[in-house]
Amino acid sequence: MEHADLLVIGTGQSGLATATLTPRHGFAHALVLEADEVPCGAWPRYYDSLTLFSPARYSSLPGMRFPGDGDRYPTRDEVVDYLRAYARRLTAEIHPSTTVASVTRQSGAWSVRAEEGREFHARALIAATGDYRAPYIPDLPGRAEFAGRVLHAAGYRSPAAFAGQRVVVAGGGNSAIQIAAELGAVADTTLATRRPIGWMTQRPLGKDLHWWLKYTGLDVAPIRCLLEKAPVSVLDDGRYRTALHEHGVDQREMSTRFTPDGVVWARRHEGDGRRGRPRD
Ligand SMILES: Cc1cc2nc3c(=O)[nH]c(=O)nc-3n(C[C@H](O)[C@H](O)[C@H](O)COP(=O)(O)OP(=O)(O)OC[C@H]3O[C@@H](n4cnc5c(N)ncnc54)[C@H](O)[C@@H]3O)c2cc1C
Repeated sequence: MEHADLLVIGTGQSGLATATLTPRHGFAHALVLEADEVPCGAWPRYYDSLTLFSPARYSSLPGMRFPGDGDRYPTRDEVVDYLRAYARRLTAEIHPSTTVASVTRQSGAWSVRAEEGREFHARALIAATGDYRAPYIPDLPGRAEFAGRVLHAAGYRSPAAFAGQRVVVAGGGNSAIQIAAELGAVADTTLATRRPIGWMTQRPLGKDLHWWLKYTGLDVAPIRCLLEKAPVSVLDDGRYRTALHEHGVDQREMSTRFTPDGVVWARRHEGDGRRGRPRD
């Protein structure tokens, strides 16, 4: 069994930033446990075209500037490179290829057992495991009978595999919009959302939204509950709205159920039957 002051599980941006800051909070010896072979979090699993919605200058972790022009929106691969470089500079010890299987608390201390059989012990523990390793697909009515392919955004890489097909993208957040915008160029694409998309201009008056949040102090103001209720789900500098429009992406209220060869829409739209039929 290995002992430490603190165990951090996960080396995404949360785990790495936490491990950097913990010495100043009295945890001299931290161990960081990571299931993947190379520390970096969910980023290598994201789709190829993903770019950050936070500019580089607002994407730095403590102690290391994100390189390059601070106003640009870095790509997925730039974030991967940055996080890997950040992990290499960390003074805390990282244990890669160590998948935590169980966490228990006994006599005020934490015991962690990894799938590989190793055990770790510490007085404090931080779980920074994200959610990308366990993508959730809701069990929509009729899904078992649907003969087409159902894919979570975590399993999507690029539009090429969908060329010429009919695809429904379900969701109204950044991932769904970005994926629908690029699929629209090669596939007959419908974007289905539960409520109208909450567009937010990425650069009001020419400055990125993150700049305004910092300038006004709203980034640290206790307004979380207000923000959670705000109808904002997508940040866009205009390119995604334009792409949806130019590619003729059909936008509808979420379907109510699957059929064996398609979905049933909540409402009839002009010029179509009641059923949409995504083909695999
Ligand atoms: C379209 C899109 C755009 C985004 N744009 C931005 C942006 O502009 N700016 C921004 O800051 N964020 C952005 N994000 C969000 C960002 O990607 C996530 O919030 C971030 O990756 C979460 O980091 P994390 O460290 O919490 O988790 P993750 O990155 O998911 O890392 C979790 C780590 O824990 C490890 N782990 C999990 N389970 C175990 C286990 N049992 N044992 C050991 N290790 C384990 C995983 O392997 C992984 O390395 C975006 C996301 C998307 C989808």
